[in-house]
Amino acid sequence: MSIPQSFIQELLARADVVDIVGRHVQLKKGGANFMGLCPFHGEKSPSFSVSPAKQFYHCFGCGKNGNAISFLMEHAGMTFIEAVKDLAQQYGLQVPEDDVSPQDRARAAQMREQQATLTSVLEKAGMAYIRNLRSSERAIEYFKRRGVSGEIAKTFGLGYAPEGWRSLASVFPEYNDPLLVESGLVITGEAGEENAAGEAKRYDRFRDRVMFPIRNVKGECIGFGGRVLGDEKPKYLNSPETPVFSKGRELYGLFEARTALREHGYALVTEGYMDVVALAQLGFANAVATLGTACTADHVQKLFRFTDSVVFSFDGDGAGRRAARKALDAALPFASDVRTVKFLFLPAEHDPDSYIREHGQEGFAAYVSKAVPLSRFLLEAAAEGCDLDTAEGRAHMASNARPLWSLLPDGALKRQLLAEIADKVMIDSRELLQLWQPAAPGYKNYKNNSSNRPSGKGYRQNPPKDSGPGHEMPEFAGYPAEQREDADYASSEPSEYYFAPPAAAPARKFGRSFDKSNGSASRAPRRVTGRILPASREDRVLRLLLTEPQSWDRLSTEEHHLLLALPPPHGPLFVWLVSQIHEHGPQPWAALREGLRGHAHEHYAVTQLAQMLEGVESDWNEMRAILKHMADLKHQAHKADLVARAPSDPVAYQQLKELEEQSRAKKAAAKSA
Ligand SMILES: [Zn+2]
Repeated sequence: MSIPQSFIQELLARADVVDIVGRHVQLKKGGANFMGLCPFHGEKSPSFSVSPAKQFYHCFGCGKNGNAISFLMEHAGMTFIEAVKDLAQQYGLQVPEDDVSPQDRARAAQMREQQATLTSVLEKAGMAYIRNLRSSERAIEYFKRRGVSGEIAKTFGLGYAPEGWRSLASVFPEYNDPLLVESGLVITGEAGEENAAGEAKRYDRFRDRVMFPIRNVKGECIGFGGRVLGDEKPKYLNSPETPVFSKGRELYGLFEARTALREHGYALVTEGYMDVVALAQLGFANAVATLGTACTADHVQKLFRFTDSVVFSFDGDGAGRRAARKALDAALPFASDVRTVKFLFLPAEHDPDSYIREHGQEGFAAYVSKAVPLSRFLLEAAAEGCDLDTAEGRAHMASNARPLWSLLPDGALKRQLLAEIADKVMIDSRELLQLWQPAAPGYKNYKNNSSNRPSGKGYRQNPPKDSGPGHEMPEFAGYPAEQREDADYASSEPSEYYFAPPAAAPARKFGRSFDKSNGSASRAPRRVTGRILPASREDRVLRLLLTEPQSWDRLSTEEHHLLLALPPPHGPLFVWLVSQIHEHGPQPWAALREGLRGHAHEHYAVTQLAQMLEGVESDWNEMRAILKHMADLKHQAHKADLVARAPSDPVAYQQLKELEEQSRAKKAAAKSA
C-alpha cells in the first residue's frame, strides 16, 4: 500500500509533535522549545528538545531527531503505515487507500471504534483495581513480600480484584452491558444456568487476585493477568482472547520496558508477569513476558522492532528446555546477521528474581552475558537424543537439523551453521545440501515441460560439469552485484545459490571457508535497517499469493514456471498452492492453512503469513515488479552461465549468440515503438 506524499504532508501539518511526544515524555516549556528526559537514552537531566515551530524533536545527548511520525515509529515501535494510520485517526483524517471498498472502510472504522470502546472499559476496570489495592491489606502484603515498591506498582498499574462475584457492578452500574463480557471482564453462565427470572448468570472473571494490566505498545489497557495470593488454582488467570487482546501477539511489560530496552541493549523474555515486575524492581526494567503461552513468531517480530538483541530466559528443567525449543523455532526466521538471540537457562533452584537477590545485579548481568547463543542451541537441539558416535545417530541429527537450519534467513550465520552441522554429522557441507534438497511432487514435471527454457539446459538446476576456475570470465566477475542493489528486499534467491551455484561461482564456497571472491560478497545480505523483517522477493510473492490465491490466474505462464521451478521452500509451496487452486479454487488463508498441515514447508509458510498479517498490505503492482525482477535475474544468470561456458562449449557459444541477437532485436523494437 502506498500513501501519497501529499497526504503525509497534510498529516504532519495537522499533527502537533509537542502533543504527540508529550503523551510519552514529560515536557517542560523552556524558551521557544519544550524540554524533557530523552526516551531514547537513559539520562538524569533533560537534553531532549521539542520544537513547536519546526515540528521537530532533537536530543542533544544521543542525537535522535525526527517528526511526529518518526517518533511513533522509534518510540512506540510502529511501522510507518501504523504510525500514519494512528496519527490520521487522532486528527480525524482519512488515509487515502486506492483499492479499499467503502464497505471495507466502514468495517475497519467500526472495528477501530469497537476496540477503542473495549480499551476504555478495560482502562476503567484497571483504575478500580488500583483503588482496590490501596484498601486491601492482604494484596499490599503480597506485593511487599515480593519486594515490590509503590513506585514499581504505579509504573505497572498493579491492582487487586476483590473477593465477591460482582465487585465490578460498583464500577459499571450497567452490569448486564454486553461490553463487559466482550472485554473479558465478566463471564456469562451456560444455557440452562439461568436464574429464576430467566437471566443468564453473570459474574466477574477476576476475583481475589492481584491484577497486572496488560498494555499494548501504545500503552492502552487491552487485558489483565491475575494471580492468586496464595496457592489456589489456577495460579494465573489471563483475559480471554478479545478483539483487542491476543496472547499469541502481546508481551507483558513491553510498553513499560521501551526505554530500558535501549539502555540495556537487549530484551529479556521471561515466563511470567511477576518475573517482569520483580526484575524491574531489581534494575532490569528490560524484561517482558509471554502470557502463559509459548513464544510465537509474532512475539519475536514485535520484540525486534524495539531491540536487536533478545535473551530468552527459562527454568533449567525439562519444561524449560521444551519452552526454549519453541522459542528457538519462533526466533529462527528472524535471526539475521545483525541480530542476536540467546537462551538463558537458570539453575533449577532459581527464578530471575531470586538469582539477583543471591548474586546481585552484576552477577545476573554476567550470567546473562554467558547465555547460550542461538547457533549453539540449534546444534544442541538437533543433536538431542542422537548418538553421534554412530552413523545412524549422525544421520538422525542431520535430519533434525534440516528444518531448523532452513528457517534461518540467508546470511553469514546460516552459512557458518551449515558448515558446523556438516562437520558434526561428518558429511561434506555441499553433499549435505544436496541431501536436503527434496524432490517435490510436480517439480520435475515442470522442469521437463517448460517450453520457456531455451533447449532445456544450462539452468541452475544443472550446473555444468566442466565449471571450474578456468572458466570464470573476468568481464563477468561481480556480475550479479548490480542486480542486488534493490534496497527493498533482503538478499533474495538464497536457496537457489545454495543448491546450484551458477558456473561463475564455483561450489567451493559451501565448504568451511567461503569464497571471498566478488560473487559471494555481492550476495551478502542487506544490512537490516527497516523495522519490518526484510523478506526476499520470493517471500513477498509467497505471502501475496497465500493471502490472495486468486492472483495466480493473473500471472503469465512464464511467471508460473518461474515460481514453480524455484528451489525449496518456495517452489514446492507454489506447486502445492497450484494444486489447491485446481482442486478447490482460490480459498481464503484459513482454509489454505488447514490444507497445509503436514506439508514439508508448512512451518515456513505459516511464519511468512504471520509476518504478512502484521500490517503489511498486499500490492499487485509490487508483485508485478518483483516477478519482472526475478525474470530479469534468471535471464541474467542464464546468460552468465552461457558466458562462462562459451569458451569451451560450442553449444553454449551458439546459444549465447542467439540470446544476444534476441535482446538486440528487442531493444530495436522498443526503440522504434
Ligand atoms: Zn537521547
